[in-house]
Amino acid sequence: MRVYFDNAATTPLNASVIQAMHDVMTLEYGNPSSIHSKGRTARTLVEDARKTVANILSASTGEIFFTSCATESNNMAIMCSIRDLGVNRIISSPTEHPCVLNTLKSVAIQDPQVEILWLDVDSKGNISADQLTQYLEASDRKTLVSLMHGNNEIGTMIDIEEVSKICKSHNALFHCDTVQTIGKFPIDLSKTYVSFLSGSGHKIYGPKGIGIIYINNDNMIKPLINGGGQERTLRSGTENIYGIVGFAKSLEVLSMQKEDHHNDILKLRNHFKDQAAIKIPQLQYNGNQEELFLPHILSVTIPKTMKTDLIMFNLDINGICASAGSACSSGSERDSHVLEAIKSPLDRKTIRFSFSHLNTTEEIDFTIDKLMEIME
Ligand code: PLP
Repeated sequence: MRVYFDNAATTPLNASVIQAMHDVMTLEYGNPSSIHSKGRTARTLVEDARKTVANILSASTGEIFFTSCATESNNMAIMCSIRDLGVNRIISSPTEHPCVLNTLKSVAIQDPQVEILWLDVDSKGNISADQLTQYLEASDRKTLVSLMHGNNEIGTMIDIEEVSKICKSHNALFHCDTVQTIGKFPIDLSKTYVSFLSGSGHKIYGPKGIGIIYINNDNMIKPLINGGGQERTLRSGTENIYGIVGFAKSLEVLSMQKEDHHNDILKLRNHFKDQAAIKIPQLQYNGNQEELFLPHILSVTIPKTMKTDLIMFNLDINGICASAGSACSSGSERDSHVLEAIKSPLDRKTIRFSFSHLNTTEEIDFTIDKLMEIME
């Protein structure tokens, strides 16, 4: 049996996404900037995709831009809000994705006048709304709050409504990385105040190499990448038309099924925990388990022993794909900044299992049995 439990790293392509992309790849090779019929058809595909994404997020089409990945979108939100919107203070958390953390590191070097404040996180990775409020009240500087909606390593979520309200009432910009939640949780940007939001195709059963950034109309920024003026001059470079069509299709398909998928994945997660409680009681979990958690991410810890030292390798040779830490360190045994931030005990080893609606309880039973065997 081969089991894929690494859906937080990337997801398999949905069949209707493959079909939609295949049609474009084989027939619509036009450049959306060309004025002839092939170009116009390609332009229509891009703009239809933008409409689909905007409708799902309750945004306007002018607020949606296609990028190469969420890493690019997150870099853009942070770098451009400093350069173009007068942001000189950033509040973030130590559990953000490396594409946010490393951007902030580079800001600290290049732009030392930008103050960077880190929120504390508790042992489950939660930030405190009170501390965020205190930080915002402590200064009149133009502030950007950068917090991810759902953590990709341990699955802990922020209360996006609460954070949004706090930012709005303190006149702060709010950047939210929704890579692990877009299409999976309802996000209504006509009601929830967000200044910048990012998403990525390959986490939602779509293609790699395509991302989006939502930029609220009130905060229009200038380009980070200059060139031929694509994406209304904000993000030049010939449009990745297959990726754009694939992104919109994957978001559309996923959004329509999000409640069913949520329930199915929650059942799988609970089945894992029920079986583990019986067969491997020494197993523990990182991150929230009762509320504000991503059902598809289950971060498991086991005691560190000689046997569990090579656990990722052993799971792999038994056909089970999981991850030791975050997506970008998948398979590596490197320590994780998230586990460090939540002060995960050093005598335990963490494995991230991340599920999709395509997984089955049989795969979970198989994995639990293999885990048990390896740990014996
Ligand atoms: N943000 C989060 C929360 C992620 O999980 C990832 C991918 O692991 C990214 C950002 C980066 O996304 P991309 O691969 O599109 O650059």
